[in-house]
Amino acid sequence: MRCNYCEWRCELGPQQYGVCQMYYVDQGEIRERFPHRWSSYSVSRMESLPLYHAYPGARCMTIGTTSCNFMCRYCSNGFVARRDPAEQIARMYVLSPEEMVRMARKLGCHNIVFNVNEPTVSLQTLAELKVHADEAGLPMGCLTNGYTTEESTELLCSIFSFMNISLKGFTPEFYQEYLGARDLEPVLRNIRRIAQTCHVEVTTPVIQGVNDGELMEMADFVADIDPQIPWHVFRLLPEHEMTEARYPSIDAINEALHDVRKKLDYVYFHNFVGSDWVNTICPGCGHEVIERFSLGCGGDRLCAFDCQDNRCPVCGQEIKIHGTRVLWNAMEVAR
Ligand code: SF4
Repeated sequence: MRCNYCEWRCELGPQQYGVCQMYYVDQGEIRERFPHRWSSYSVSRMESLPLYHAYPGARCMTIGTTSCNFMCRYCSNGFVARRDPAEQIARMYVLSPEEMVRMARKLGCHNIVFNVNEPTVSLQTLAELKVHADEAGLPMGCLTNGYTTEESTELLCSIFSFMNISLKGFTPEFYQEYLGARDLEPVLRNIRRIAQTCHVEVTTPVIQGVNDGELMEMADFVADIDPQIPWHVFRLLPEHEMTEARYPSIDAINEALHDVRKKLDYVYFHNFVGSDWVNTICPGCGHEVIERFSLGCGGDRLCAFDCQDNRCPVCGQEIKIHGTRVLWNAMEVAR
């Protein structure tokens, strides 16, 4: 039986688990091998995910399972995403979707974001989680590589109202050689589709000398969908099979972004301590409407928020924000 969750479209059987090793066939149905198992759950800031334009400042519960449908040579979560899930299961938390939502509320979280590995490999559990999150009034978001089929992209959109989608390169050859995927085209198709109904931010991890020459083409692609889509250019520190690769030069990438910044309203450059390119500048008048601080490695946080009704207080330009500013302890106060 063929799995249509992602573009691998693996043939599955009772003991045949596909590329991600997370699904099998039971009585004619595709099922998860490890439902309701979590590699992690913790409290984070939205900015650290990164999601800069969704519920700024909110406290979110970040969750993850195990495995992935990509085989990125530089994976920074290889200890979770690139190991046999059957070997990890003994170390994973067992929490029903209802218990996970209860935990999020107890910890004062405003929303839930799946961010550790790829949500496509745990869609059934996440669809269940969505039901309970809706009942509790908790929005759900995710980080994804966007390699879903058209059918499961619809499922993704029904579960998550905000997403950060990785656009890791801009050639099929890069997707084949560095990510172990078949093609780039489904990712481009899905970014276009998801942006129609969900809040989308895009992240591109830059490997100097490999994909930094494709930045302009990627910016053109994103701008063609909507020049207001926030784009995170991420200084990748290659791990897993690429520990020998040199660290990308901050100055060289920043220079490459000079012309790119003219194409999109919100271009960020981070994953290093003290980045100057993490603030939101009003596209209308240049006023700094959101100030952030970057500690690198997912440690970004909100410092100041100077928008009124999601508009620049100086010129009135609308600033693209999904939801509104949320105070860190807002849910504690509300309880
Ligand atoms: S989700 Fe997993 S089993 Fe399904 S097609 Fe993708 S890699 Fe294969």
